[in-house]
Amino acid sequence: MLLVAAACSQAGHEEADTVSIIPQPRYVQMDEGTFRIDKDTKIFLDEPVEEYMRIAGFLNERLLAAAGFSLEITDEMTADGNVIFFMNAGLPSEAYGIHVEPNRIVIDYGDGAGAFYALQTIFQLLPEEIFADSRQRGVKWEIPCLAMEDAPRFKYRGMHLDVCLHYFDVDFLKKYIDIMALHKVNRFHWHLTEDQGWRLEIKKYPLLTEKGQWRKETVVGSLNSGVYDGTPYGGYYSQEQVRDLVQYAAERYVTIIPEIELPGHALAAIACYPELSCGLEDHYETATKWGVFKQVYCPKETTFEFLEDVFDEVFELFPSEVVHIGGDECPKASWKACPHCQALIRKLGLKDEYELQSWFVTRMEKYINSKGREIIGWDEILQGGLAPNAKVMSWLGEEGGIQAARQHHEVVMAPHQKYYLDYWQADPDSEPLAMGGPTTLKTMYEYEPVPEVLTPEEARYIIGVEGCVWTEYMDSPERVEYMAWPRMCAIAETGWTQTGKDWDGFTRRLETHLGRLDRLDVGYCKAFFNPLIVFHNDTKYSKVVTMTVDAPDAEIRYTLDGSVPDASSPVYDKPFVINRQQTVTAAAFRNGKIIGEIRTKHF
Ligand SMILES: [Zn+2]
Repeated sequence: MLLVAAACSQAGHEEADTVSIIPQPRYVQMDEGTFRIDKDTKIFLDEPVEEYMRIAGFLNERLLAAAGFSLEITDEMTADGNVIFFMNAGLPSEAYGIHVEPNRIVIDYGDGAGAFYALQTIFQLLPEEIFADSRQRGVKWEIPCLAMEDAPRFKYRGMHLDVCLHYFDVDFLKKYIDIMALHKVNRFHWHLTEDQGWRLEIKKYPLLTEKGQWRKETVVGSLNSGVYDGTPYGGYYSQEQVRDLVQYAAERYVTIIPEIELPGHALAAIACYPELSCGLEDHYETATKWGVFKQVYCPKETTFEFLEDVFDEVFELFPSEVVHIGGDECPKASWKACPHCQALIRKLGLKDEYELQSWFVTRMEKYINSKGREIIGWDEILQGGLAPNAKVMSWLGEEGGIQAARQHHEVVMAPHQKYYLDYWQADPDSEPLAMGGPTTLKTMYEYEPVPEVLTPEEARYIIGVEGCVWTEYMDSPERVEYMAWPRMCAIAETGWTQTGKDWDGFTRRLETHLGRLDRLDVGYCKAFFNPLIVFHNDTKYSKVVTMTVDAPDAEIRYTLDGSVPDASSPVYDKPFVINRQQTVTAAAFRNGKIIGEIRTKHF
């Protein structure tokens, strides 16, 4: 089968454009005809146990909402009528096969994740109306006949959400996880503690949420504006809510990886329990703006006791084998000024504060390992030496990931230059405030997470990718969705798809896919349909203009006199020069009609 798949993969890749699946499946062979789901269609379960009943239930849930009927689930092989067979074919975890014939669909899997991912693909093979939450009339619920084999490239396909800089309620988190699962993303990295707020209920330390969830106000505009809104801001998750969300995610084959930051980004906890700090200040308060703060955990017994207690409760809430311990952006000023820290450095024979940080992380790792769990941390845990079993999430660039892989530690690639979703995705001149960038859809799509410098042996330690959603400038679910999608589609495809990058094919599939996101009420950014106008500095009197558009089969037409471009305006075909009096006004056209928004950029 694998040989056949390999031989057909090129043809399959081209053929696959007739169906629009994101992420792109490994192998697709189109065939004649269609399978139609109607109210007489049955679902056959090879293993009629709770897990597969639930998966079949997801299909029935959508059918009931959009088509007005649901399907009988049976474990008796019936020859009559149309049947969707779920068969355990002993495939590897997460892998699946789909064979669609006019009177039956056979779904092969090896575990629940594989069956679930097959279903996500089935949803994308159906008309987009399957994602509607109300009855759709006149739709033929047809799936094209085809043969498909699919399996992920990486075992770790992650999406992060920071709920500290801004808080999001559980209903939104469930929707977030639903959309992740649709894209076969299987790790939700939940950033729960920060300088600006502590969001996780810990029974032994009630102040963490009673007090630590709050900041007295929030900076308005960029972090250095100096203007504050004067309004207290808070929010946290009870342990009951956490258990509910963990189960909700697990039913969608998403593992939640909680992040408890140490030794830095700890100001909210220190504001509640000042004894955790180096004690250099009289008063500690939860931060009210973004950035890095020098008030960090002091490596003393009180602190380790606190952190171990916190992790004990974390382990009860989260079954994940891996927990995230942060480890990033830990300034050393407090440790340098702290008599206890300095005495500890001498006593342990450490070289400096970086080695103290490594000692801190390693000590926590030992505890966490003793409870049967593993740690992952941001690049900075490499400083002063990596803890023996730690995994690294490489955000600063690729260097940390390369270094860790060479030391045979597992690595998740999340370089901010490519995978930070709080960065601009289009022209900052016409976009809401963001943290950096721009990082366009195309930048994200084209990023290859396995650095070329690694040997094949080292490359095996790159276990996946993650898109990071830091919410400095996202104070509502709408803003999060706008920043996350559709760029996260590109990261999801990189995490899943084995074959080479195909930007053109991706944009074609994405345009269809955006219709699904519309049905799901995901407020994604529509920059895909707009020209991106870039001015390159030339002389004092001139700029060089380049323009691109992501939407396929589109041309950019523009004017230089401020007027609105129409079907007779010049088509952009190569870079050109403008002077100080000229303004570029442009739009993307298809078949003579504007498909997105008109964009204007002044000299
Ligand atoms: Zn100290």
